[in-house]
Amino acid sequence: MPLPIRPEVASLPAYVPGRPAGGAGGGAGGPAYKLSSNENPYPPLPGVLEAVTAACARMNRYPDLANTEATEALAGRLGLGTDRVALGTGSVAVLYHLLQAVSGPGDEVVHAWRSFEAYPIAVQLTGATGVRVPLTDGARHDLDAMAAAITDRTRAVLLCTPNNPTGPALDHDAVAAFVAQVPEDVLVVVDEAYVEFSDRPGVCRGPELLDRPNVVVLRTLSKAYGLAGFRVGYCLGDPELIRAVRAVSLPFGVSIPAQAAVVASLAHETELLDRVAALVAERTRVVDGLRGLGWDVPEAQGNFFWLPTAAGTATWNDRFAAAGLTVRPFADGGRWDGLRITVGETEANDRVLEVAAAHPR
Ligand code: PMP
Repeated sequence: MPLPIRPEVASLPAYVPGRPAGGAGGGAGGPAYKLSSNENPYPPLPGVLEAVTAACARMNRYPDLANTEATEALAGRLGLGTDRVALGTGSVAVLYHLLQAVSGPGDEVVHAWRSFEAYPIAVQLTGATGVRVPLTDGARHDLDAMAAAITDRTRAVLLCTPNNPTGPALDHDAVAAFVAQVPEDVLVVVDEAYVEFSDRPGVCRGPELLDRPNVVVLRTLSKAYGLAGFRVGYCLGDPELIRAVRAVSLPFGVSIPAQAAVVASLAHETELLDRVAALVAERTRVVDGLRGLGWDVPEAQGNFFWLPTAAGTATWNDRFAAAGLTVRPFADGGRWDGLRITVGETEANDRVLEVAAAHPR
């Protein structure tokens, strides 16, 4: 007898994580760099590590189920009530919970494509059908087409700003106009995993859209705050939705050190945001350099950029690997085949430019 695994689960595509740094170990003889998971190259601040170490003394106990201190710290930082914040084990878990809360078999969830790879997996897991709306040629969400894709069966729309893996951020006014068109019983998830890296005036500011109960903002401590290994993300939304997310969350999911890391990181936010500014400056340097070499790099508003290598994706991936750079290839033969490259250490970014310059397009 076959095991009773649900078909939605049996047919799930695997989530492909960025490969660890490795390959040729630095063709130039230097170290290898992992630029494949949009991680922050800076290790946690000493003050954060101290708080985490102190918290580890309580590891014989379960974590605070309600994540009280971390929730208060985040809510206080954002000027919201604690009933508007729900934490989870990474924002990808919070996304799963949000979709579990609103959609099921027979329902539809609209999202852009190409976008964050976890979206189709999270949607399929609920039994709903994903409706993929192609990006524009500028690698942006096509908000008009996304609005037109909403049907009576649509339960949620996922907006990714800045968009992983292509880079552009949505304009605030455009998102506000989009949200105004969406029926009130359709959840709009504004995934702002990389928002702290966005420096263009006018980009989407999800929390300012929260006067609409059907808007929820998804954020993470994994990127700008450099806590990917701790697995903490959160959403901001209507109290009723927040209660639903908490209800479907795994109990005690956010660990004691992770909760402490959130509180300590917010206490050290200025230093962390200085690091973000340094990474943004590096992003500008590398993207400008690549454009100078003739690459049509779309707007990059996260801690990564898109190299449109198209049919040459495997070749370019090999070239970067030979130089000790692990980048993230997307190659399914579609319009958005290319490489997503994380902004990393200065030497890693230099090497990206060297590889690009050594092999003219
Ligand atoms: N949203 C987007 C757009 C992402 O790129 C990622 C991570 N790659 C996440 C959410 C999830 O991040 P985490 O689970 O680490 O919070």
